[in-house]
Amino acid sequence: MNSRIKSVDNLSFEGKKALVRVDFNVPLDGDFNVTDDTRIQAALPTINKILKDGGAVILMSHLGRPKEGPEDKFSLKHILLDLEKALDRPVKFAPDCVGDEAKQLAAGLKGGEVLLLENLRFYKEETKGDAEFAKQLASLGDIYVNDAFGTAHRAHASTAIVAEYFTDKVCGYLMLSELENADKVLGNPVRPFTAIMGGAKISDKILIIEKLMDKVDNLIIGGGMSYTFAKAKGGTIGDSLLEEDKMPLTLELVEKAKEKGVNLYLPLDNIISTDFANDAEQGTSKSGQIPDGWMGLDIGEETRTLFADVVKNSKTILWNGPMGVFEMSSFDKGTKAIADAVVDATKEGAFSLIGGGDSAAAVNKFGLGEDVSFVSTGGGALLEYMEGKELPGVKALEP
Ligand code: AMP
Repeated sequence: MNSRIKSVDNLSFEGKKALVRVDFNVPLDGDFNVTDDTRIQAALPTINKILKDGGAVILMSHLGRPKEGPEDKFSLKHILLDLEKALDRPVKFAPDCVGDEAKQLAAGLKGGEVLLLENLRFYKEETKGDAEFAKQLASLGDIYVNDAFGTAHRAHASTAIVAEYFTDKVCGYLMLSELENADKVLGNPVRPFTAIMGGAKISDKILIIEKLMDKVDNLIIGGGMSYTFAKAKGGTIGDSLLEEDKMPLTLELVEKAKEKGVNLYLPLDNIISTDFANDAEQGTSKSGQIPDGWMGLDIGEETRTLFADVVKNSKTILWNGPMGVFEMSSFDKGTKAIADAVVDATKEGAFSLIGGGDSAAAVNKFGLGEDVSFVSTGGGALLEYMEGKELPGVKALEP
């Protein structure tokens, strides 16, 4: 981790107003109810530390992807009640994240009070990293805290640029634990070290896979991306996911694994289906032998056993991406088998880091979030950190 940055533990917030970038990008249902408050819960330790010190908290976040200006469905007012409940205290709301009202509300805050600013992305200046907009945000607080690991790979106004206007700038507990846990895997992992890569696209994960080749003992590849490997090796994959332009690259990866002495595990068999639907006709097929009109939507039974054995014998595990279309019950067995194996290995003393939105969502779907070592809240940010890139949101906290 960047040794030059400090955390909330290094400061007292007594009598101060902390401007805290959190990630409250929570899912809402059609009636604007929060359907999963994990991200709100994850921000509580930092907020409560500041309040306990006697400081005031000004919270800022994005929600969704508003296109042009304010849109009611992306208003952070929808999360206010959940936040108040989680904090067990009233929370004030500024219907515009900058401007006179936000300034007045922030200026009037006393120690122990909390103010939530409206969605930062109602201003295009946020994602553009506009300095003037960042300055207006900065004028609201005395200390800057960044606890939004999920957006730390973006140089947005509230995640990076704003820090230039503060002398006191620190990371929150969530950001700290995300970095510390990623470092456990990156630094000096206990061996055998196994990385499990899945999900839809190989193009999203190619850099991390290449990076991991230098570090892991075992590399397991499943999910949609595995079919590009199967096709490149000369197999047939029917209508399964394919990134044709990445076929040569998959062959290079296979070679690279051999050169570096990494055990590369690809699926042996697959659950196939005639349609991308839970109730479509199903069958099984050896890898590389999927008939026309069928698509692979999960790893098969033989593969589940193979992958689970490798995982159970590991001492450090990094998992990013599901083994199949786990959102549909007909195709969630592969992902569940991996999740169970990761839990078993963790019970035996392995360190397991589940990173990235969808594998985290899968582990939570199976109710196993508590049974692994750490579930990261950051998808893209974790991948970029693991790729060895410096995250702008972390770098900005340097003195
Ligand atoms: P990613 O965001 O790249 O980790 O991809 C996660 C998505 O990949 C999930 O929504 C899965 O449903 C999807 N996925 C995994 N395996 C397959 C597959 N064999 N075919 C199509 N989609 C898949």
